[in-house]
Amino acid sequence: MQLQNQRRPAWWLDARRRGAFEARAIAAFGLVLGLGGGLAVGLGMALVVLPMTAAGAGASGSANRFDAIIIDAGHGGKDEGAKGRGGLVEKDLVLDVSKRLARRLRKRGLEVHLTRSDDTFVPLEERTSRANDARGDLFISIHANASHSDQPRGIETYFVSLEASDAGARRIAEIENQALGQSGAAAVAADPFVALLGDMIATDHMDDSSAFAKLAQAELRDVGKVPSRGVKQAPFVVLMGVQMPAALIEIGFMSNSRDVGELLTDAYRDQISGALARAVFAFQKRYDARRGIAASH
Ligand SMILES: [Zn+2]
Repeated sequence: MQLQNQRRPAWWLDARRRGAFEARAIAAFGLVLGLGGGLAVGLGMALVVLPMTAAGAGASGSANRFDAIIIDAGHGGKDEGAKGRGGLVEKDLVLDVSKRLARRLRKRGLEVHLTRSDDTFVPLEERTSRANDARGDLFISIHANASHSDQPRGIETYFVSLEASDAGARRIAEIENQALGQSGAAAVAADPFVALLGDMIATDHMDDSSAFAKLAQAELRDVGKVPSRGVKQAPFVVLMGVQMPAALIEIGFMSNSRDVGELLTDAYRDQISGALARAVFAFQKRYDARRGIAASH
């Protein structure tokens, strides 16, 4: 296991504390060694995996009802995010919308964890480990977009993939991943092992993440004040690390005066949080139904 630890950045180890993940990581590592020619070593590792997988499956409690949501307000503290017209700063905007959403979800009896509840800097890896420790059933990261041009506007929802769905999506992920710091971001980009792990996690929750992203975007589109830019995919580090369905919402462009005009108002922030809450309730229904749990509402 020595070699495995050396291959993995410290933050990545930190973000992974649950048995199921460890078992699968070791399985993948065994596979990588096997493919590399050390088949005997690979098989040896695979044997270690079996009991851990069983323990991991029990600990993850897959039959549990949907009841815990992690809301991740992007940026914070020294990381201000995008700056918009009218003095609007992304870190403040997304914290406000996150709190509005949290209030709505708690009113319906859901357990809500915020990765930050004030203006503090929380590294991306800390966000993922907080989410995983809280054993959330859904992770929602809230951000606002920005462009060099003042023309682009609209609201879009992302779920994670290693390949961005288009150049714009890739650029957004690069911007949002900057909070990881230069060295961390470079390490992630350069490390095929991390890429493999990220891919495994993303695939694990891909269907659910995609389903939630579609529900969220449909509700946000129906608000009707800011145009819909659709559901997209990109390699967001904050989404790659979480062991639960996850989506990232860009609630409008800080660089567009019409979007900012809406984002500055209480009414629009309420409508966005209402739309996201409806998407969560719809997702909750689907999630519980798929596990044979009757709706509690
Ligand atoms: Zn952001």
